[in-house]
Amino acid sequence: MHGRTRLKPRKYRAYTRKDIDAIPQLDRVAPRLRTAMKAVSAVLPFRVNDYVLDELIRWEDVPDDPIFRLTFPQPEMLEPGDLRRMVDLVREEAPPAALKAEARAIQDRLNPHPAGQMTLNVPRLDGAPVAGMQHKYRETVLFFPSQGQTCHAYCTYCFRWAQFVGIESLKFASREAQTLVRYLRAHREVRSVLITGGDPLIMKTATLRRYVEPLLTEPGLDHIASIRLGSKAPAYWPYRFVTDPDADDLLQLFEEVRAAGKHLALMTHISHPREIQTRVAAEGLRRAAGAGAVVRCQAPLMRGINDDPDVWADLWSRQVRLGAVPYYLFVARDTGPKGYFEVPLARAHDIFREACRRVSGLARTVRGPSMSALPGKVVVDGVADVAGERVFVLKLLQGRVPGWVGRPFFAAFDPEAAWLDHLRPAFGEAEFFYEAELRAIENGRPEPWRRSGRARGGDRRGGRRTLPVVVGLADPAGAIDRPTWMTV
Ligand code: SF4
Repeated sequence: MHGRTRLKPRKYRAYTRKDIDAIPQLDRVAPRLRTAMKAVSAVLPFRVNDYVLDELIRWEDVPDDPIFRLTFPQPEMLEPGDLRRMVDLVREEAPPAALKAEARAIQDRLNPHPAGQMTLNVPRLDGAPVAGMQHKYRETVLFFPSQGQTCHAYCTYCFRWAQFVGIESLKFASREAQTLVRYLRAHREVRSVLITGGDPLIMKTATLRRYVEPLLTEPGLDHIASIRLGSKAPAYWPYRFVTDPDADDLLQLFEEVRAAGKHLALMTHISHPREIQTRVAAEGLRRAAGAGAVVRCQAPLMRGINDDPDVWADLWSRQVRLGAVPYYLFVARDTGPKGYFEVPLARAHDIFREACRRVSGLARTVRGPSMSALPGKVVVDGVADVAGERVFVLKLLQGRVPGWVGRPFFAAFDPEAAWLDHLRPAFGEAEFFYEAELRAIENGRPEPWRRSGRARGGDRRGGRRTLPVVVGLADPAGAIDRPTWMTV
């Protein structure tokens, strides 16, 4: 039904920190580097598999090989003092508790949940916070199934690294498919559900089905137009779509989504062209698309891995050739080992523009460089000289407040700036246009859509019923109703 494949099945085998000495290819790596890898992997997650080791890394180029840097912890990912202390603990074979305590202190300094994930994005149902979900943008809900909170291999730069280091308080996860359904029923403004992790395709298809099927069959969810699956399986374990025992079941599930009249998007994370150069990777993408998934590709721009316009031009061209859609180029997020991987915004924009020039129009569906920051997805549209001042031209592609989207704004040019909070408004302005409203949101005043979302049937706060009363109609950026709240 899904086409036969001549590729041989492969058994998945993972290696984690405790297996570093058992990875045969690492024999060629200097002992000093191996010790450093053990030290860093006590702080940040490490996991790789046989396919990545055998097919994706070019061992003759290690330690500079991009896929090696993508998957194996690098010493410079920790601050020199932190690295020294962790290496000393590893060398003296310190008890696990001592190693864990030192690692935890470092993790706490690495901004484990940026952009308000643990506070502003947590949705509420029946007045209580819902675990395992995020609702930052009006139309999109993120759902983190608890069995999907690992990946087939881990990326060294992962911005969700806190999901994998065993700190329960830092995890997002939910077993509650029914909670998701109830939340979506109460939020008719939502159009899209992103099932994410980790990697939801680490789950067996039967488990994934328990989350996806209710979105197709439960009443009251006709407003959900698309289901997205965030996954790096096409790169780290393409056998998931090809020869795994339940690969055909997965494709069947994709087909059911389409048959239910919903769009299925496979939001694929591909950082380097080599990840889609193997036969099995091409076959995996072909089979996913054949089952009705639209494959959209996104990845961050990372120093030492893909900070080269030729790499991106090659990547996007290959994606188009394989039937996938280039979607986003992200800026390294302000979490974890960002300092090691970051590329200044000015350089990121140059790389993006240069790469765009080298591809056909079909690959220019890609957007970027984009920062997923507190106010939303901020793209650097260009660098310009305006009224005698060199500026970054910025725009929100997605915003906490929909009225912020698409409005150009300007920051003073700074060749070193690598994140939104490094930027200052241009032309002597005191702050960016959204900042006053964002401050109010941080201080507890929900976004306008969240308030109007609650308006349907009201909301219970502290046991009392609240009703919306519209007191003003115009937002300075557009036309957003601004209901206020009256407690009765
Ligand atoms: S695949 Fe995604 S979630 Fe998994 S380690 Fe890489 S960046 Fe993180």
